[in-house]
Amino acid sequence: MSGRHIIDPWDSTLPSDYESLMVEFGVERMTDELLKRFPYKHRLLRRKVEFGHRDLHRILDALENGKLYAVMSGIKPTGEFHLGTFMTAEEIIFYHELSDRATAHYCIADLEAYADNGIPLDESHEIAISNVADLLALGLDHERAYIYKQSEEKNVMRLAFLSSTSVTFNILEAIYGQKHIKYYFSALVQVGDILLPQSDIFGGPKPVLVPVGIDQDPHIRLSRDIAKRLDLIPPSAVFHKLTRSLLGEEKMSKRNPMSMLTLADEPSLAAKKVWSTLTGGRGSAEEQRRLGGEPEKCVVFELMTNHFIEDDDELRNIYWECRTGKRLCGDCKSQLADLVSSFLEAHQRRKEGMMDLARSILEDRAGFHGRA
Ligand code: SF4
Repeated sequence: MSGRHIIDPWDSTLPSDYESLMVEFGVERMTDELLKRFPYKHRLLRRKVEFGHRDLHRILDALENGKLYAVMSGIKPTGEFHLGTFMTAEEIIFYHELSDRATAHYCIADLEAYADNGIPLDESHEIAISNVADLLALGLDHERAYIYKQSEEKNVMRLAFLSSTSVTFNILEAIYGQKHIKYYFSALVQVGDILLPQSDIFGGPKPVLVPVGIDQDPHIRLSRDIAKRLDLIPPSAVFHKLTRSLLGEEKMSKRNPMSMLTLADEPSLAAKKVWSTLTGGRGSAEEQRRLGGEPEKCVVFELMTNHFIEDDDELRNIYWECRTGKRLCGDCKSQLADLVSSFLEAHQRRKEGMMDLARSILEDRAGFHGRA
C-alpha cells in the first residue's frame, strides 16, 4: 500500500477529486448497465450521487434471484441526524425496501462516540433513542431490521476480537495512517458490525451491502480483507459523494453545528440557515443575468439535488435557468427554505410518534428484530 495517500474516516476534509480516489483505491464505477438492473431507482442513483461501489453485483444477483441479502449501516450517537446521516438512512431504507428478502442491520456506534468524541455511554443512550426515532420516522421497516448498540452486542465484540487475530499494526497503519490505539480498536469494532449479518445467529454467510460516504472506504477495505480470512463473503458497498457543509468548506459534520442542517432544527431556524448557505452566484444580480450562475459550485443546488427536489425535470430546469442567468439565488433560496421547513415540520411530527418505539427497541430489545 506504500505510495497511497490515506483516507481518514474521522476527518472532516472533503475529497478534492472523486475520480482519482476511485482509481487509486480500485472503487468500481456506478455504470448505466448496473443502474438498468434496479427495478426502480432512488434519486441518489439517478443523479449519480452514488457514484461508485464494490461488488454491488452480488446484491443485484441476490435481488434478481430472490435470495437473502442484508443492508448494514449505522450512526455515531453524538447529536441529531444531519443531512449527511440522513442520506445514509435514506440509502439503507431504499436497499432494504427493494426486496422483502432483505434484512437491515443498524448499528448505534456508541463505543466509537466514546472513543472519538468522549461521549459517555449513558449520555449517548438518549441521543441514540432520538436517532432511532428519526430512522423510524424516515420509514425503516423495523420488523425486518436489527437495531442495536455496539456496546451491548456481544457478537460484535466476538467478531472484532476474531478480526484482531488476522491483522497487524502494519496493516492498520497502511490503511488508516498512524493513529491512537482507540481508533484502531474502533475500526475493528466496526469490522465486527459489518460482519455481524453473516454470523450464525443471523443465518450465516450472505451478501451484505454497506451504503457509505467514500470517506468510510478504509473500514470497507479492512472488512473485506478480514471477511476472506474468516470464510465469509466480502461485504459490498455503494459510495456516495459527501454532503458539504452549508458553507461548502468541509464535509457536513456534527463538529460544526452552525454549518449543518439537522432534522431537529426548528423549521424557521433551518430556513434562516438556507438563506446563509453558499451559492454559485455572481457578485451582483446584473452580473448573474449576464453570465449565469455556477450550480456545480452551489451548496443550495446540491441540497436540492441530494434531498429536496424529487422531480428530475424540475431540477434540470433549475440548472438551466441558473446557467443562463434566468434565475437568481434568492429564487432558489426562497424555494429551498420552503421545502426544508415543510419537510422538517412533517418529519418532526412523525418522529414524535416514534419515540416510544425507539426507546423500546433499544431498551427492551423489542422483538430482537431481524434475527434468523
Ligand atoms: Fe445556486 Fe440557484 Fe444561485 Fe444558481 S441561482 S447559483 S442554483 S442558488
